Amino acid sequence: MSDIFEIDKTYVANTYNRFPVDLVSGNGSIIKDNTGKEYIDLGSGIGVTAFGIQDEEWKKAVIEQLNKIQHASNLYYTEPCANLAKMLCEKTGFKKVFFGNSGAEANECAIKVARKYAEDKGVKNAKIITLKNSFHGRTLTTLAATGQDVFHKDFLPLTDGFIYGEANNLQSIIDLVENNTVCAVMMECIQGEGGVIALNKDFVEGVYKLCQEKDILLVIDEVQTGNGRTGKLYAYMNYDIKPDVITTAKGLAGSTFGGNPIAAAGAISIISRINDELLDEIKQKSNYICEKLKNADGILSVSGMGLMLGVETKKPVKEVLSYLMDHGVLALSAKTKLRLLPALNIKMSDLEKAVDVIIAAVKE
Ligand code: PLP
Repeated sequence: MSDIFEIDKTYVANTYNRFPVDLVSGNGSIIKDNTGKEYIDLGSGIGVTAFGIQDEEWKKAVIEQLNKIQHASNLYYTEPCANLAKMLCEKTGFKKVFFGNSGAEANECAIKVARKYAEDKGVKNAKIITLKNSFHGRTLTTLAATGQDVFHKDFLPLTDGFIYGEANNLQSIIDLVENNTVCAVMMECIQGEGGVIALNKDFVEGVYKLCQEKDILLVIDEVQTGNGRTGKLYAYMNYDIKPDVITTAKGLAGSTFGGNPIAAAGAISIISRINDELLDEIKQKSNYICEKLKNADGILSVSGMGLMLGVETKKPVKEVLSYLMDHGVLALSAKTKLRLLPALNIKMSDLEKAVDVIIAAVKE
């Protein structure tokens, strides 16, 4: 066993099940482990490295900023923070940005916004509707927002004030709104950790209409679906809706330190390259994967949008992932499905090779 495995097992809190690989370097969608073995990466650090490993433009932006100032705190102005906020607002039509440290913290802020919106109207103790099978983060409040008992059970009592509707069941949301004082509905357009389940158009647009009618905020959690992942800049743009608040993280920065200039400079280099040409390319790559996989032997279904895809396989997903790893492909799971979140600019030749390995892996 490698020393790193031993050191990690001894000193790092055992909160994640790791795969037995020590990743040391890479380029684009190719990653190398400590034995020199190469993998085609279809996971991009759970959707974080949007333009792959050692992305030259991102590195240049970050190094240029490192050579100026690495941190200034929120007491002062810095150019990357202001320019990133301007860019995000101009590309989405939203009015303001709040920078936090993580997806969970972004969701905490959205929850506070919704509660304050209600308080300001004189509405006390209003509830927030989230969906069963959702995932919104690992802080106590975002765990409470997450509609899955399995995430709750060891950490009770959680933050109060969340009630849970059913994805793609508009009546379940209408019933909750009628029987409770509600200040917001918060949901992912594709439930990522929940198994790559896309919400249907009628449901999302129905929830939007209901929120408008009842003066309830619509919060879309774009932590996993955002920044080009679904073939639109943000996943809500696939529907005819205008949410009140969106939260984002992966792709722009794992940890933004509240608008920290290094993270903001890196994020500008990412968001400025998510243009129509790239979004078209994402859709073409998505079609390629779906076409190749949907009729392959051993595959039951393919779900998701863009380069956020879930593949239901006849074989247990653990077995599929282990075959993929042995044959030089890194991917993810979501519940019982194989989950693909490759870099948005993965080379077609790498994707073709990886899809062929998946086809071989799932065959019975
Ligand atoms: N929301 C969604 C939809 C996510 O997929 C995740 C992470 O996977 C989070 C929130 C939490 O983000 P973070 O890990 O940056 O706190």
